Amino acid sequence: MGGQPLFLQPRLEARLRSLAESGELLHTLTDALGSPLHVVVPEQIAANLERFRSVYRRHHLSGQVFFAHKANRSSALLRRLAATDAGVDVASLGELQHALGAGFTPDRITATGPKNREFLWLAARTSVTVGVDSRDELEQLAALVRKHALPRARVLLRLSGFETAGVRVLSRRSRFGSPVRELVPLLEAVERHRDVLDAVGVAYHLDTTSLDEKATALEGCLRVLEECRERGLRPSAVDIGGGFGVGYLADREQWERYTTELTAAVLGTRPPLTWGGHGYGLRSEAGTLRGALGLYPAHRPVAGARYLDELLAHPAASFDGRPLADLLLEHLYDLHTEPGRALLDQCGLTLARVLEVRTQEDRDELLVRLEAKADDIALEAHGVLMDPVVVPRDLSHADTGPVAVHLSGSLCLESDLITRRTVFLPRRPEPGDLMAFANTAGYCMDFHATRAQHQPAARKVAAWQDGGSWRWCLDDQYWPTTSVGGAQ
Ligand SMILES: *Cc1c(COP(=O)(O)O)cnc(C)c1O
Repeated sequence: MGGQPLFLQPRLEARLRSLAESGELLHTLTDALGSPLHVVVPEQIAANLERFRSVYRRHHLSGQVFFAHKANRSSALLRRLAATDAGVDVASLGELQHALGAGFTPDRITATGPKNREFLWLAARTSVTVGVDSRDELEQLAALVRKHALPRARVLLRLSGFETAGVRVLSRRSRFGSPVRELVPLLEAVERHRDVLDAVGVAYHLDTTSLDEKATALEGCLRVLEECRERGLRPSAVDIGGGFGVGYLADREQWERYTTELTAAVLGTRPPLTWGGHGYGLRSEAGTLRGALGLYPAHRPVAGARYLDELLAHPAASFDGRPLADLLLEHLYDLHTEPGRALLDQCGLTLARVLEVRTQEDRDELLVRLEAKADDIALEAHGVLMDPVVVPRDLSHADTGPVAVHLSGSLCLESDLITRRTVFLPRRPEPGDLMAFANTAGYCMDFHATRAQHQPAARKVAAWQDGGSWRWCLDDQYWPTTSVGGAQ
C-alpha cells in the first residue's frame, strides 16, 4: 500500500458501538434476511429527543420538537417516537397516514413541503397544522376548507429570503416559502381568510450548516411576528425547521489530514485518493486549485442539540444584540424545531456482505465488491465520507495490516461505486465478511433506494438491548410494547 493510510473512523456512541461489535448477531441477521440490511435502533431516537428537550429547558422555552419523517421511512423509529412527547413533520400523504397510524395525534403533526390536494385535505380534515409554502397554497387551502366544510385550519406561514440590516447576511435562496418582501399581500390573504384559517406562527427551513444564516432567518421571523401583532393577528410560534446536523467522524485530525491530502492529490503532488481522480468538487487548472469541496463537513463538534443551543445564544443585531432565546422567551413564543438528520444520529447502520476481494493489475488498491448498491448506502450521495467497520466472519484470519481498497456495488454499471474514495481498512477483508456502515439512518437508508436490475431493496430490522444482549424484529413488527420487557 503506497503511503500512510488515511482513516476516517466513524463516531460511535455506546449503543451503536455495541451493535457494531455484535458480529455474531449481524452475521445471523444478514444470513437470514440478506444483504444489504438496515438496522435501526429505536431507543436512540428517544435519547436524541431528550438532548433537544434539555436545550429547551436550559433556555426555559416551550414548543415542540417535530421529527422530519422524510429522513427515514422506518416504522419502528416513528412508533418509538410516538411513545414520547415529540411531534412529527410529514411531507407527503403517505407520511401523514404513516404518522397517524403510528399513534401521533394531529396536534403533534405538521405538514410541510410540496402538497397535492389529497395531502392538504387529509391534513385539514384531521386538524394537522399546515406549513403553508406560498400565497397560492394558502388560497388553495382556504378554498378547500370552505368547499368541504372542514374545521378551521391551523397554518404556519413558511417564509424565505430573509435579510439583515447592517452587515448583510443573505439567507440561502429557497424554492420553498413566501419571500418576506411579499409579506404584506400574504398577511392580507391571512386576514381575508380568518374565518377558515388560523395563522398560529411563522416558519423557515434552511438547508445550510451556517449558524449566521439561520440566526438571520430567526431574527427575521421575530420581526414578522411583531408586524403580525400590529395588524391584530395573534401568531405565537416560530418553527425554525431542521438542519442541526450530525458529526459523523470520531477524529478531527483524521478529517483535516484527509482533506489536505485530497487537495494535494487533486493538484497532483501526491498519488490519487479517488477512483478516476475524482476531486469532490475540487480541480486543478494549470496547477492552481479551483472549485469548492462539495462534501458534508463530516467532523462537526457542534451539531444536533448543541447546534440549537448555540443558535439560541446567538445575538440578534436588530434587537440590541440580545440572545435569540431571550427574545423568544420575552414574548412567550413557542419554539418549534424539525430535526431530521440530527434526531437520527447514531440510530442505525447498514450491513453489506463482501462478495469478492480482487487485486487490480495496474494499481495497489484492492477491489472489494459488496452485495449492495450505492443507492442502498447513500452516504456518498450526501457527501459523507466515512469508513465502514469490518465485521469478520472468521476471526482466525491473519492480520494483514492496513490495506487500501475501492468499494464497488452489485450493479452492472461502472458508476456503481459505494464511494469514489480510496478507503483504507485496518486489514484485508475476506469474502463473507460484513461491512457495517455506521450512522446511515439519516437519509442514507431508503431515501435513494431503488429496485434497479430486480435487485431487492434492503430490508430493515429494529434492534434493542435487553439486559446484556441485543434483540431484534422486522422494522414493521416493532411497536413500543415490543422493547419494553421483550416481545410478548
Ligand atoms: C428536510 C426538512 C427538515 C429536516 O432537515 P434535516 O437537515 O434533516 O434536519 C425539516 N423541515 C423541513 C421543512 C424539511 O424539508
